[in-house]
Amino acid sequence: MKQQKTHWHDRVTAQRIPTEAFVAGRRATLQSEDIYEIFNPATGKPLGAVPILGEQDVNSAVSAARAAFDSGVWSQSAPAERKAVLLRLAALLEDHAEELALLESLNTGKPISDALAVDIPSAVSAIAWYGEAVDKIYDDVAPTANDVMAFITREPIGVVAAVVPWNFPLLMACWKVAPALAAGNSVLLKPAELTPLTAIRLAELAQEAGIPDGVFNVVTGTGPVTGRALGLHMDVDAITFTGSTAIGKQFMAYSSQSNLKRVSLECGGKSPNIVMADCRDLDEAALAAAFGIFFNQGEVCCAGSRLLVQDSIKDAFLEKLITQAAEFVAGDPLDPDTTLGALISQPHMAKVQSLIASAHDEGANLLCGGEQVRAESGGFFLEPTVFDGVSQDMTIGREEIFGPVLSVMDFATPDEAVQIANNSIYGLGAGLWTSNIDTALTMSKRIKAGTVWVNNYDESDITVPFGGYKQSGIGRDKSLQALSFFQETKTTWISSSGIIGIDQGKADPVCAMPLSGKE
Ligand code: NAD
Ligand code: MN
Repeated sequence: MKQQKTHWHDRVTAQRIPTEAFVAGRRATLQSEDIYEIFNPATGKPLGAVPILGEQDVNSAVSAARAAFDSGVWSQSAPAERKAVLLRLAALLEDHAEELALLESLNTGKPISDALAVDIPSAVSAIAWYGEAVDKIYDDVAPTANDVMAFITREPIGVVAAVVPWNFPLLMACWKVAPALAAGNSVLLKPAELTPLTAIRLAELAQEAGIPDGVFNVVTGTGPVTGRALGLHMDVDAITFTGSTAIGKQFMAYSSQSNLKRVSLECGGKSPNIVMADCRDLDEAALAAAFGIFFNQGEVCCAGSRLLVQDSIKDAFLEKLITQAAEFVAGDPLDPDTTLGALISQPHMAKVQSLIASAHDEGANLLCGGEQVRAESGGFFLEPTVFDGVSQDMTIGREEIFGPVLSVMDFATPDEAVQIANNSIYGLGAGLWTSNIDTALTMSKRIKAGTVWVNNYDESDITVPFGGYKQSGIGRDKSLQALSFFQETKTTWISSSGIIGIDQGKADPVCAMPLSGKE
């Protein structure tokens, strides 16, 4: 049943705003007294004060996570037990879908309808999927000589820190927390400083579902303080990060400066969406292209922010696109009919506006939008914006904007489309619209991106890996590939005939003479 706007506004007054860090199964008692305020981006009004965990507080949280890991209460539990707990957590998230959607909308400015339709169900599905997966995966036995038994087993890696962004706070957290917990690790989740609310509720509900104390902790705070302390910590075994490329690089540096912790990065993008003249349905492609850039106010890492249209259909296509763009109307995010919410913060809106100004300066041609709207609300709303005549060297043709701004470029041949598509430091997603199967196959192979959507944009589910080529990141979220990031591989070599000598030719002594290339 679709709720009314009044339903959501009534709920706001009764809604608890959870802002406390959660460590060792309870609201954390902290050394640091630093706090900061968070705001509702749709009104500019304060939502609450959030603690910044400093180095000492991060140390305590890591110790709690390590103690829980070493106790074996979760790390050594049977996969079927972990499955049962994760499935209970998924059910609890579903029971609290309205509350979580409300918190997400209040904290990010995204439309409540999007939070209910996308953020919360996708988070539930991530938790349930990894829960379901863990008791169905077998380890390996190697094909060794007969008097040897060699097992290749997977173990949890230990203490994992997940550092996530503000655009899909609960969903990005669940993409990381679900496989990390399923594998048996202890987890420290650091939400983006602007959006801690659903992360904290997730930890509370995880405890209710039966996650033992200390196994799942939420450490709030800023990047340069709390995030850095996690990145440099000598007892954090792995970092899984989603955010900007600049900070992703920072986490590689933290790793090299500390304990060589394993690092997985999901970073930025400037994804091309290519419409070939033989596209079977321009209306469908225009709808998807608009959704691909304006959904979630364009604050989507794989947003189709570069639209590449073959020149023979360009005018017809852009007319349809502008019609679809007009469907994204800024409004009160708590109104279920609202299709475009607020940007995350005033500084972020100012950054998007400065990129819009650069487009004007550099000679791009504004087709629609470009202005702030609903300023009287106190919130940070921008119109859906489309620039035509964008060239590859313009700032808006190259830089990630992370706002509702589309750059249109045209091309004549498939080769030219591929050249433009790949002319980016990023390689996260790409769209391709064609009715020709040969074109679909050859072009999708040539495009350097972690996902190529053919005749759709941004469709996905938890079963497929998600991540980037080039500076869009290292590693993948989602699917079983993500699970393996959170596991160590152990070889256990058991021989029944005592010491194996090199002369016996039975084995390759690891530290002895190299056998490669020799008879
Ligand atoms: P960000 O890089 O500023 O912050 C991400 C996280 O890192 C936050 O938790 C932040 O507190 C922390 N952080 C910031 N500075 C830090 C520092 N010096 N040391 C340690 N931690 C630090 O990114 P953002 O502004 O929150 O999010 C927007 C970016 O995220 C965009 O570039 C977007 O493309 C990217 N993103 C990528 C994906 C993906 O899956 N590839 C998904 C969502 C967002
Ligand atoms: Mn940032």
